[in-house]
Amino acid sequence: MRPDDIDIFDPGTILAHDEDLPGDAVVPPIFQTSLFTFPSYAAAVAAFRGEAKRSVYSRVGNPTSAAFEAKLAALEGAEAARGFASGMAAISAAVLSQVAAGDRILCVRHVYPDAYRFFETTLRRFGVRTDYVDGRDLAAIERALPGVRLLYLESPTSWMFEVQDLAAIARLARAHGVVTVIDNSWASPIFQRPLRHGIDLVVHSASKYLSGHSDTVAGVVAGRRELIGRINAEVLPFLGAKLAPFEAWLLLRGLRTLEIRMKAAQARGLAVARWLEQRPEVLRVHHPALAGAVDGVQLTGASSLFSFELVQGLSVQRFVDALRLFKLGVSWGGHESLVFPAEITHQQAGGPNSARDFGVSPRTIRLHVGLESTKDLLADLEAALAAATDGR
Ligand SMILES: *Cc1c(COP(=O)(O)O)cnc(C)c1O
Repeated sequence: MRPDDIDIFDPGTILAHDEDLPGDAVVPPIFQTSLFTFPSYAAAVAAFRGEAKRSVYSRVGNPTSAAFEAKLAALEGAEAARGFASGMAAISAAVLSQVAAGDRILCVRHVYPDAYRFFETTLRRFGVRTDYVDGRDLAAIERALPGVRLLYLESPTSWMFEVQDLAAIARLARAHGVVTVIDNSWASPIFQRPLRHGIDLVVHSASKYLSGHSDTVAGVVAGRRELIGRINAEVLPFLGAKLAPFEAWLLLRGLRTLEIRMKAAQARGLAVARWLEQRPEVLRVHHPALAGAVDGVQLTGASSLFSFELVQGLSVQRFVDALRLFKLGVSWGGHESLVFPAEITHQQAGGPNSARDFGVSPRTIRLHVGLESTKDLLADLEAALAAATDGR
């Protein structure tokens, strides 16, 4: 696929269609090889001089991984994309390609916990400082921007699902010469294309909706050729967290159904969120669509990850243990429904903790609504709410 294909084709076409595959295959083959040999001395020289594009070594490039990267770039409307071994590898590569000792990062609060820990431990040790803002507060962002090198966004945020105004923030950042990076894992390119709104780099944990089947850990960064080129030249070869060909193949397979999975996720997630909102056991629900953030411009749909707070006096532990269909686990974006309470996150050993540091209530419970029947999921939740209430 090509960078401007999203202007020509709908996402479903980009997901289903491939061109120029070896042997006229309909599925990109898995190039399970570490190196690629040269037919001649002259061909090797041309490749090393950068005059001929060809695969050399799978740490720096592999055709199966490149097929995934091209599809992601087309979906995000990006000139280029780069795959990684995980979402965190993509996040750290995007940030490390832009910052140096003495630089300052501005980051939205409630950012993904390991991104927060990366900023607060490794980057701090290398002399990069990070400040945090409420991403919904444009005036606060504008006040904090002078002197900032990189603005890190995640919309909606982890745990609290706070949505940022990407176009307005991108305008402010441009005016201050600040590079913008956004984690777009929650919405996926089906529901949000941040580059369209002026954001510079988009990162994904491909382990979530892009994979969609909870069988892959991977990541990707998309953006302008020049910015991805910097990652390719200065970060990926040395940190070496490349996307492996088999994982890329699994991602390509998962992507075929991304659009229909996202639409199914939206419907099921909303049904469950609306049901919870009516329950006396529930204090509030944090879901971007219920908060009116699905505006058809920035956010054209909602995925099925959101949180809610149990009212005081109910037992989070009894609620979680009574669930049968919602399994207790981290991650999300696969076929299966999952539950994870902030109460457990707050007890995580070692290092800074964004849920605790930004005041996420221990009564907050995150749900990922999978592809099971909504009727069955609601019955599961109803039984668990009853169990949470028992003995109050
Ligand atoms: C899971 C996740 C990540 C990290 O991705 P990995 O693939 O686990 O490294 C980053 N951002 C968000 C929002 C996530 O949920």
